[in-house]
Amino acid sequence: MIGILGGGQLGRMLSAAAARLGFDVTILDPEPDCPAARVSARHLVAAYDDIEALRTLAGLSAVVTVEFENVPAVALERLMTLGVPVAPGPRALAIAQDRVDEKTFLNGVGAPTVPFEAASDREGAARAAAQLGGRVLIKTRRDGYDGKGQSWATSPDQAASVFAALGGRPVIVEAPAVFRRELSIIAARGWDGAFAAYPLAENEHENGVLRHSIAPAETAPGTGRQAQEIAGKVLQGLDYVGVAGIELFELEDGSLLVNEIAPRVHNSGHWTQDGAATDQFEQQIRAVVGWPLGPVHATARVRMSNLLGDEILQWPVLASDPACRLHLYGKREARAGRKMAHVNRVSPL
Ligand code: AMP
Repeated sequence: MIGILGGGQLGRMLSAAAARLGFDVTILDPEPDCPAARVSARHLVAAYDDIEALRTLAGLSAVVTVEFENVPAVALERLMTLGVPVAPGPRALAIAQDRVDEKTFLNGVGAPTVPFEAASDREGAARAAAQLGGRVLIKTRRDGYDGKGQSWATSPDQAASVFAALGGRPVIVEAPAVFRRELSIIAARGWDGAFAAYPLAENEHENGVLRHSIAPAETAPGTGRQAQEIAGKVLQGLDYVGVAGIELFELEDGSLLVNEIAPRVHNSGHWTQDGAATDQFEQQIRAVVGWPLGPVHATARVRMSNLLGDEILQWPVLASDPACRLHLYGKREARAGRKMAHVNRVSPL
């Protein structure tokens, strides 16, 4: 039995991959009708920090993993105290949950990022903007996702207002990355330190939300190697076990900066389901249960598109297209902007 904290679409696809390899899954998620619970052996309906639920999960599971990064680190620590291995571990989660700690860690292991400053009040935000100079992007340190909780400022005064508008919470002030495009690399690391990284994906966002990923991305010869080196340093530095997504900016001169680390399977890795020798969900299960990692080479070219909200209504057309592989998440309600499904359009390499 594998325990998974979180029962969204990533948990659902992890659970299906686990089943294919002969494992059962218990989901811990407070939402009774969550997508993952309907394809899993058991579902504990409780808050992530519910002591009783964590005790039950620890008793049932040989190992526990996560499908989203904002699981309280205390929940993972609690599970470890109860004697169940947790992958990725609390330190990796804690670093990925805080944008300042994350970028400080990245620079510490030699993974380049944009210049940044931390600020925890209006004056600090203004000072940081003055120090970095010009336009800056201000993001809440914690709890931001899909472009939420961030705003541009073009002067120190405006930085102070943005700080207030973001709720007066601690922020990171970032210099702009002048990028040619956004790439990501999905990588895995096992308990024994084994490492494998997939070919790069090229990502297109709209309003901060991923719309399309194309993989394998067409890149200059050195770019893939550069990304692999970065991923290796990051996963080793975090003593990471499992699959992680690393979001990258490709600059005009071809060099790469890291934007952020997602300590879990990643939306830009969904192409692997129909275009790689082992998909990222199976890879995550393999890594956390101590199996050898699977091969990661591409077997097809894939254009992955997310279906948001009402776009799910396109399913009959997509289902009748032989080049399309549809992955629906079983969500009951198609709220605007909600990730409902994705489609992988497959073509030969
Ligand atoms: P994030 O929430 O950090 O993943 O940022 C969401 C999106 O905002 C990224 O995918 C980029 O398109 C953009 N972005 C984030 N940070 C920067 C930056 N420092 N400079 C320019 N664009 C950025």
